[in-house]
Amino acid sequence: MPVVETVLGPVAAAELGEVDAHEHVFLRTPVNPGDEFLDTDKAAAELLRVAASGMRTVVDLTPVGLGRRPIQLAEVSRASALHIVAATGYHRSAHYPAAHWARHADDATLLDVLLDDLRVGMDSHDWDFPRPDPSPHKAGIIKLGASYHRIDPHEERWFAAGAAAARQTGVAVAVHTEVGTAAHAALDLLDKHGVPPGRVLLAHTDRNPDPELHLDLIARGAHLVYDTIGRIKYRPDSVVLDLIERMAEAGELGHVCLGTDVGRRSSLSAYSGGPGMDVLGRDFVPRLRRRLGAAAVDTVLRDAPQALLAKRTSAL
Ligand SMILES: [Zn+2]
Repeated sequence: MPVVETVLGPVAAAELGEVDAHEHVFLRTPVNPGDEFLDTDKAAAELLRVAASGMRTVVDLTPVGLGRRPIQLAEVSRASALHIVAATGYHRSAHYPAAHWARHADDATLLDVLLDDLRVGMDSHDWDFPRPDPSPHKAGIIKLGASYHRIDPHEERWFAAGAAAARQTGVAVAVHTEVGTAAHAALDLLDKHGVPPGRVLLAHTDRNPDPELHLDLIARGAHLVYDTIGRIKYRPDSVVLDLIERMAEAGELGHVCLGTDVGRRSSLSAYSGGPGMDVLGRDFVPRLRRRLGAAAVDTVLRDAPQALLAKRTSAL
């Protein structure tokens, strides 16, 4: 039976229910100074709203060094009764200051960090070296990041480490694309390192709502996550509904996942911001159901993410 590693242990993929495929339960990054969110009670309150909106699983795509709190992540999972799939990996290089160890570590260390998070348990202090301190809570997906229109030399090394960890553990790889760019390049680089596009989730593709590009990426086998839902500064949600309809007409909805990726304190209801992490289930899913019907909703919230997240037991 295909299994997904959650922070509270392995779960059958089919038990994940409705999946919000890109969120951050805690986050701190120099890219968004003053917009960090690290409070456990507020995280639990936010995720209770997500649960009330009809989601059963949240994929937390926070990579190494950006405020991961594995012990508290498990607490929030228990408090909200949501499955949480946590990430390990390295974001695009802008998220790491010049002195950060991830920019200077050798290739073996970069890989060991990921394998420890995936096999032993995520480091309790999120690899704030020198002393490793594994928590009992494992990561279940690898997160990588590409820059705008390019993958820089640091990111290339982190892609290599992430691909090696994916090959050795069978978990999927999620890639941050900057405004939806460099998506083919990300698939090429992972493929070169032995991870086929079918194991890759491309994030923020809806920032570049180009249906022909999306169908090309899907034709290679990739999964896309439309994950700026509710963030109207980027475009109205009707554009995402149109995109989903195009993918449905092409028979490719099985490659589309959804999320909101509210990566700022000012976007979270628990901090008196908006639209709130529950905007997907609360506002968008009813619109999608009216437009394409309940079966389409099941495909993007259940079938697509469950297939992607299920660990491959045979080596890639
Ligand atoms: Zn994100």
